[in-house]
Amino acid sequence: MDKRVTVIGGGFSGLSAACYLAKEGYRVDLLEKNEQLGGRARVLAEEGFKFDMGPSWYWMPEVFENFFSDFSTSVSDYYKLVRLDPSYRVFYSNDEIIDIPADWEALKALFNSIESGSGAKLEAFMKEAERKYKLGVGKLVYNSGSSYTDYISAELILGLFQNEVFSSISKHVRKFVKDPRLVRILEFPVLFLGAKPENTPALYSLMNYADLKLGTWYPMGGMGKVVEAMRDLFVQLGGEIHTGEEVVRFDFGTKKINTVESAKDFYKTKAVVGGADYHFIENQLLPDNFRNYSESYWDSRVLAPSALLFYLGVNKRIDGIQHHNLFFDADFSEHAKLIYDTPSWPENPLFYVSAPSKTDPEVAPEGHENLTILVPLAPGLEDNESLREKCFETILNRFEDITGQSIRNNIVYRKSFGHREFISDYNSFKGNAYGLANTLKQTGPLKPRLRNKKIRNLFYTGQLTVPGPGVPPSLISGKLAADEVNQFLKN
Ligand SMILES: Cc1cc2nc3c(=O)[nH]c(=O)nc-3n(C[C@H](O)[C@H](O)[C@H](O)COP(=O)(O)OP(=O)(O)OC[C@H]3O[C@@H](n4cnc5c(N)ncnc54)[C@H](O)[C@@H]3O)c2cc1C
Repeated sequence: MDKRVTVIGGGFSGLSAACYLAKEGYRVDLLEKNEQLGGRARVLAEEGFKFDMGPSWYWMPEVFENFFSDFSTSVSDYYKLVRLDPSYRVFYSNDEIIDIPADWEALKALFNSIESGSGAKLEAFMKEAERKYKLGVGKLVYNSGSSYTDYISAELILGLFQNEVFSSISKHVRKFVKDPRLVRILEFPVLFLGAKPENTPALYSLMNYADLKLGTWYPMGGMGKVVEAMRDLFVQLGGEIHTGEEVVRFDFGTKKINTVESAKDFYKTKAVVGGADYHFIENQLLPDNFRNYSESYWDSRVLAPSALLFYLGVNKRIDGIQHHNLFFDADFSEHAKLIYDTPSWPENPLFYVSAPSKTDPEVAPEGHENLTILVPLAPGLEDNESLREKCFETILNRFEDITGQSIRNNIVYRKSFGHREFISDYNSFKGNAYGLANTLKQTGPLKPRLRNKKIRNLFYTGQLTVPGPGVPPSLISGKLAADEVNQFLKN
């Protein structure tokens, strides 16, 4: 058993770590509590519909390409990627609807048509965003922020991005555009990072470069294809997958885990990578004196939002929507307040609708539409059927009103997923959907570290550690954790 290691969790970060470790020649056991791999990116297949349960935006395609090329393969060996055009549709009101074109010149013309001269401002904004993206993703994100590299990361961040770290994205965007619709477009990607634009460092305008320059892509067959690709790669590398195996206990030696115990089996191990929620690993599987962080630390963290999702199968085609649709026809600051300041259910929420059947015939029966509605909500809220139902009615009314058609009698499949399921299905801390928010105090080296300080062979990966929430960061997080394990086991 000299080279046996264990990875807990078959989400993107666990799969990524598992692939890198298998490539290094370790015998890797990947333990996943659910019957299906993918974690927050699982697939729900029902009545001819195939719903991506979590992520639907495929951004930063080169991060995926980098991942596969590390194994001498390529994205195109596993799935077909298409660029969406328009990238997405934004509804501001019944008669104010904007499509974001994939083409850069067309996008600048769109900006000019809304605010005179803003096309040139967008060009300047994007030059800076590109610089941040190239430095940020190239140098910082692939840097683990642990041990001696803490210092390097902090230095780099402060040295390279001084102004952008201490100023907010909200202020930064307003230096370039004034029209509230354009402000909203440039602030939108920050929602992925889990904090209000006022609390997100301007450094993250790098996300605008990802959005508006690198584009929105779609893997035909859905995001689940990426999970399948990583699963296949892992198996080709000799890895062993154990689904339906929830890790319930560690057996410790001196400052070391010797055995990982699931409800069904025991796994002897030289090192463990925890790809389940960081808080769960610490608080449910470790005694107090072995934890990196106390409960009061976790209570003081700003979590990214939770989400309420509705998966809808509709027995007709729906007019007036694109593949990705943002419903910004309600007061953003009011909704943001209820997520971040005074957590409660919004009366009139912003929401997002994904309709992959607009691009992909594989995800719905012919003549049908596959819709996922996502409403961001504060983590830790009370959650019950009547609250979900009320929210659904509000959204459905707005959707029907703004798109000018009735769909309620055409819904042939419906399932909701929210706080309760995030906790029961993924052991999610407070029901969070996207991990920790990327606020100034929770960026880079200030995130929970990849390595346990007291147990020599325990490492963490995933959206609660570096680099943060999102599929591309989760792929990178797995690589960083695998590097740490490898260094440890080789020394
Ligand atoms: C609704 C939603 C929409 C999103 N949209 C996007 C998007 O459009 N684009 C984007 O890039 N990102 C998006 N994200 C974020 C992205 O999905 C996540 O950042 C990423 O999938 C997290 O991967 P992970 O491996 O860190 O965690 P997870 O996917 O949660 O994986 C952790 C795994 O650990 C397992 N586990 C937990 N406890 C145990 C245990 N005791 N034993 C064994 N296994 C255990 C869980 O079942 C789970 O499979 C979205 C997330 C959500 C929830």
